[in-house]
Amino acid sequence: MTRAVNVSALDDRDGVIWLDGRFVPWRDARLHVLTHGLHYGGSVFEGERVYDGRIFKLAEHTRRLHESARELGYQLPFTVAELNEATLEAVRRHGIDNGYVRPVAWRGSEHISVSSGDTSVHVAIATWEWPHVFSADAKERGIRLGASRWRRPSPETAPVRAKAASLYNICTLARDAAHRAGFDDALLLDYRGYVAEATGANLFLVAGETLHTPVADCFLAGITRRTVLDLAADLGIQVVERHILPRELGEFDECFLTGTAYEIQPVRAIDGHEYRVGKTTTAVTEAYSQLVHQAMA
Ligand code: PMP
Repeated sequence: MTRAVNVSALDDRDGVIWLDGRFVPWRDARLHVLTHGLHYGGSVFEGERVYDGRIFKLAEHTRRLHESARELGYQLPFTVAELNEATLEAVRRHGIDNGYVRPVAWRGSEHISVSSGDTSVHVAIATWEWPHVFSADAKERGIRLGASRWRRPSPETAPVRAKAASLYNICTLARDAAHRAGFDDALLLDYRGYVAEATGANLFLVAGETLHTPVADCFLAGITRRTVLDLAADLGIQVVERHILPRELGEFDECFLTGTAYEIQPVRAIDGHEYRVGKTTTAVTEAYSQLVHQAMA
């Protein structure tokens, strides 16, 4: 039988969590089991990274949290400025140097029905020290992706522009299956069969010295993806945003993933297709690293 409770669980830590306008002791930041967001998957969230004690692109992330809630039909009861301030304060209180921030919003427990009715809206912000998602070895050598049977849904099927918890069912299923098959992460196609993204990051492929990335028309157009597009322009690297078919995957020399948590993560293989951690990936990685630290100066 699988154990439901993990002794080193995230709910059993010291510190504080910002919840609906005030800081509460970490262990007291709890929900009722009849919370609408839990039953009907209406929560939205963000993932932010702290470098040298400062949050990279905080305002963009907070704005996206607001937009995600709007996509799901609700309005956050705190302004972008208020949430920015709360996030900064949470990071300050914990003395986070190199870490992660997880803001989350959800509908409350006033009634249980598929309709949202007049449920209250709640917001929490937690932060903790978390230097890297992947090991230094993975950063250097690249990770291996396995193609998933799960696909990113069409914009008619799901609120694809939102960073919505409900969309992560697919990602969890895909990532667990990839791990069981011995891969580090999964590559998902979209509903049309085009190459889409990994389970928590966007995808870039390199042919010669040109970057290719899927058009983000049915999955999250990541903030890191946007940053890399801008960095590529600065570096004089040509970028093509286009629909990419799985049968093309053998034609590329390099491959990497982008995301707030993944940063620039080289990929050394997708199924049987192998890539090297080459010049373009290295140039983008260095430029990104410089930017996240510089942005803090
Ligand atoms: N796609 C998915 C499914 C993600 O979870 C993430 C991480 N937020 C991304 C892409 C990359 O987005 P960002 O660069 O804004 O972190």
